[in-house]
Amino acid sequence: MTFHYEDERLLCEGVELEAVAREAGTPCYVYSSRSIVAAYQAYDAALGSLPHVICYAVKANSSLAVLSLLAKAGCGFDIVSGGELYRVLQAGGDPGRVVFSGVGKTTEEIGFALRSGIRNFNCESEGELAEIDRVAGALGVTARFSLRVNPDVDAVTHPYISTGLRDHKFGIDIADAPAVYARARDFRNLRASGVSCHIGSQILDYSPILEAAGKVLSLIGQLQADGLGIDHVDLGGGLGIAYQPGEQAPAIHEFIAALRDRIGRYGLTVMIEPGRSIVGPAGVLLTKVLYRKQSPAKKFVIVDAAMNDLIRPALYKAHHEILPLRRAGGGAIVADVVGPVCETGDFLARDREMTDAQPGEYLAIASAGAYGFAQSSNYNSRPRAAEVLIDGSGWRVVRERESFEDLVRGETR
Ligand SMILES: *Cc1c(COP(=O)(O)O)cnc(C)c1O
Repeated sequence: MTFHYEDERLLCEGVELEAVAREAGTPCYVYSSRSIVAAYQAYDAALGSLPHVICYAVKANSSLAVLSLLAKAGCGFDIVSGGELYRVLQAGGDPGRVVFSGVGKTTEEIGFALRSGIRNFNCESEGELAEIDRVAGALGVTARFSLRVNPDVDAVTHPYISTGLRDHKFGIDIADAPAVYARARDFRNLRASGVSCHIGSQILDYSPILEAAGKVLSLIGQLQADGLGIDHVDLGGGLGIAYQPGEQAPAIHEFIAALRDRIGRYGLTVMIEPGRSIVGPAGVLLTKVLYRKQSPAKKFVIVDAAMNDLIRPALYKAHHEILPLRRAGGGAIVADVVGPVCETGDFLARDREMTDAQPGEYLAIASAGAYGFAQSSNYNSRPRAAEVLIDGSGWRVVRERESFEDLVRGETR
């Protein structure tokens, strides 16, 4: 168990988290390196002898230390911006295992990616194909691309993170794809190498991903019959994790076994782009209780982390478990856990049955390794949190807490 209690103290691997909270300060993200590497290895082992590239979706958690851990383990990367490519290169990632996704790649980003020698562009419009062709021509290189197709499959998840339906901005309608691939043959500096899709995130029942894979594979069969040299299928990310007690995350090996059954006979390289399922369960956000307060209707636990540190509860009504760093025998309360930001939407938990935490005590917001720090901001001029990486019985700060000077960097009066 990555996070577990020993003598009523919460540990990550072999490290007592209260010691980290005291030394590194709060709010502070803490990640387990073992958990991150184990999740990557679960995908890698399950794919086994099938030719494959696992491209970790950088947007889930783009800390250099996390990227570096994964790069050392042999992982590739799925990027959605030039900034993410810069981070991957800084972390020692192999550009030959990078795929570039996203609907709005700029000319500068395309040039940077081509000069860096990335493996593949996942393209989302014909205008983008034309632009990549133009930039590749100017640089004298050939760009490999996949079309990201929209298979019109409902991922059954939060509407903001569902991406595979016909009215979403993502991808090219799967019915139009053969014609787009045919027209793309006219681009002299492009080579069609794959088909990609990504239908959404936090998917707990993976049957829609299998359904999408079925549609994408039959498209590939058709494209190959048309004489296109399609050699890979990219099935995106999206596997969910357990946020609530009783919620069951799909087992990575079962999901991959189901995919293998369908893909095995096509002779394709399989690419996948998991984000949340690699880093989500590996991280917690540590916070300190500042005050307790009781309104006529409610109890409030006021903590030093806020929606600028972890926006998922406010944005998606997401549930994160709240764990005390020191378990006391005392009774439970029902309370809202709220931060200092001036918004009613600034809550980390609502009407939650939880430990009777008093000012000065510490709490961990669980399952915060994905889309936590990465979506944090300086709203209310709050410096962004520190980040800590645990490795066995050791730990180190991998991102310093921002200072007030950092807050005004680059500004003029
Ligand atoms: C966000 C995203 C992913 C990762 O999704 P997870 O749910 O974090 O696994 C993969 N591919 C693309 C194109 C994405 O936009």
